[in-house]
Amino acid sequence: MDKNLKDHKQIGQELELFFSHDYAPGAPFWLPKGMVIFKELEKYIRELTEKAGYLETSTPIMVKSQLFKESGHWIKFGEHNMYNLSLSDDETDTHPVSYTLKPMNCPESTIIYRFRPRTYRELPLRLSELGRLHRREKSGEVNGLLRVRQLTMDDAHLYVRENQIFDEVSNILDMMVAFYKNFGFEYEFRFATRPEIRAGEDGDWDKAEKDLEEVLKKKGIKAGDKKGDGAFYGPKIDLHIKDALAREWQLATVQLDFHMPQAFDLKYVNEKGEFEKPVMIHRAIFGSFERFIGILTEHFQGAFPLWLSPVQVAILPITDAQNSYGEKLLKEFRNAGIRAELDLRSERLQAKIRDVTLQKVPFLGIIGKQEVEKQTISVRTREGKDLGLIKTPAFLDKVKQEIDKKI
Ligand code: ZN
Repeated sequence: MDKNLKDHKQIGQELELFFSHDYAPGAPFWLPKGMVIFKELEKYIRELTEKAGYLETSTPIMVKSQLFKESGHWIKFGEHNMYNLSLSDDETDTHPVSYTLKPMNCPESTIIYRFRPRTYRELPLRLSELGRLHRREKSGEVNGLLRVRQLTMDDAHLYVRENQIFDEVSNILDMMVAFYKNFGFEYEFRFATRPEIRAGEDGDWDKAEKDLEEVLKKKGIKAGDKKGDGAFYGPKIDLHIKDALAREWQLATVQLDFHMPQAFDLKYVNEKGEFEKPVMIHRAIFGSFERFIGILTEHFQGAFPLWLSPVQVAILPITDAQNSYGEKLLKEFRNAGIRAELDLRSERLQAKIRDVTLQKVPFLGIIGKQEVEKQTISVRTREGKDLGLIKTPAFLDKVKQEIDKKI
């Protein structure tokens, strides 16, 4: 990393976003300002998925290990990569049961699918889950938000008929592009085919790989090759991004799966009243909130886009005489849904400006005698650009519009 650039752990401390503590290696503590970013991303991903017809679910974090044996994860993912606990009902119980902190949501999603019989009319059934997962990374390998043991995934599982694969995968790829364009990342798709150790029949793999190839071809996407890098249950298309430091990250993924519907005997009733097997599609847009926020923090060096900024406007009175006008503005901004802060310290203006600039607050609203008289605000950006005197309602509108446009 360029030595003028800070890593996300340092920025996280300085801007009071998140930190790690010895009491919980590999699991971040989120401070209020970091939580703002987390919640904004959560809101955005929920908006995108609700518009696309997804239904949100939530499944238990701790489940019997048996489930992961049935799904195949026990062997492929490795028993030692999960957190397994042997639990008794009480101290007299001589038959403890093995439980696992889920490392992924897929097997439990199939339990929701199996909650009751399904018919073709319900498909495609798109079940999303912002699931908290645990993965057993070695303590020497955990690294801030980039490599964690506890992560929150923007996950979804779609249950579809074979003739729905094309449209669903295609819509997911569009969603990925729409999402990543907001951040100005360069991106590239990669096509990952069957790995050596895998579940399922070769015929299903042929079919699944052909389906994904067709989507890429019809959409005119030139995808790079990741031969043999598919999931153990099916091939996938990953989206790789390049950040401001020219590092490449694999974040989004869409995976086609004929195996898990077989392993869990999933079915639905077709038009003729016969049973058919659905195909499962696994997808994530940013993979893990933790890693994505770590990448964003370094990419923007803490100067997050306006819509993600923990504080969007800092109101800076020049003297104490403007404090009550400042309070009035603060109320107006907050009522308009803008995250504003008022600096009431008896510091010199230069010191106030320096502090909020270090905190990377996008807009600085300076108020002196003139601003109070004219009911205006003098606006500067964190880059030091002077936007001049603006009437408060006009400034409010400008900020709101930019937040809505996610710039
Ligand atoms: Zn999955």
